[in-house]
Amino acid sequence: MGEMSEGTRADAIRTGKTDAPTSEEYDVAVVGGGASGLAAAVFAARYGLDTVVLDRGTSAIRRCYLVENYVGFLGIDPESFLALARGHARYEGAEVVDGHVRRVERDGDAFRVRTDGGEGLRATYVVAATAYDADYLAGLRDGEFHEEGNHPVDADEATGRTDVDGLYVAGWLSGDPHQVLVSAGHGARVAKSLVRDHRASEEGLPGELAQFWDWRVEEGTYGGEEWEAHVDEWIDERIPGDRDIGEERVAAIKRALKEERLDYQQSPAERERRRRDARALLDAVLGESPE
Ligand SMILES: Cc1cc2nc3c(=O)[nH]c(=O)nc-3n(C[C@H](O)[C@H](O)[C@H](O)COP(=O)(O)OP(=O)(O)OC[C@H]3O[C@@H](n4cnc5c(N)ncnc54)[C@H](O)[C@@H]3O)c2cc1C
Repeated sequence: MGEMSEGTRADAIRTGKTDAPTSEEYDVAVVGGGASGLAAAVFAARYGLDTVVLDRGTSAIRRCYLVENYVGFLGIDPESFLALARGHARYEGAEVVDGHVRRVERDGDAFRVRTDGGEGLRATYVVAATAYDADYLAGLRDGEFHEEGNHPVDADEATGRTDVDGLYVAGWLSGDPHQVLVSAGHGARVAKSLVRDHRASEEGLPGELAQFWDWRVEEGTYGGEEWEAHVDEWIDERIPGDRDIGEERVAAIKRALKEERLDYQQSPAERERRRRDARALLDAVLGESPE
């Protein structure tokens, strides 16, 4: 969650899609830029994973006349909702690209995501967030991943995990999450489980610790001996004594998690800048508020 430079920040208040990915390799490819895919992208990108969203532009949200049940919005038209969500994902550093994914294949321990023409891109994780379409997944699991044209795709609803390592399913495609707010929440939840898995496998964090990240507190809230002792105790409670983790490793985990928490502190100036950018995004999409 590094701070953006002023230039990047202004540039990031963009609400459309780009024509092509800027890289051939990503940590996370989200297929589908509707409610669940864009929410997943916000969460993955905020963790610092290189994230791209590939979207062919047919979100079911477009079929609503006015979304009236998204908490905090008395009513928002579908185009404005999608523009705000894209703007948020882009602001956090995700790329949002216009593209129809035709096929996802295994590529070593990652995936190759193929769009119309070209070699496509490589991604360590794929989040399938395409509501109805799962045909592009047919190359996985010897073609038995799903029956063509059918949805949902088999996945654990709480985490989005599938039995294809690194493939997650979010939103309507997974089954129940129907309605924009519920799908967005599900996308966030699935990205959180992806990040948790990533922290466990890449950073060696026990799952009970890996799941806690991404919040903001006021500068000065954390730090000092009392706070350190409190964090140590909190971590000790989550690493049972019978776990095969050496003392040195536990000490390293404590150091890393304390540094991470110290980074969650925000100065008044950073808070104000973020609030200003939030208003700029709203203005860019909704224009002047009615009297
Ligand atoms: C007629 C109608 C009215 C509705 N009204 C409301 C309402 O008033 N309020 C409400 O809360 N909910 C409403 N809903 C439900 C809401 O639209 C869905 O619950 C929500 O959009 C699901 O989010 P999602 O992210 O799972 O899918 P979507 O928002 O549909 O996003 C899926 C995305 O995946 C993309 N995609 C698909 N296949 C590919 C591919 N191969 N490659 C790249 N991209 C792909 C699509 O273009 C799309 O953008 C309505 C739905 C319908 C059909």
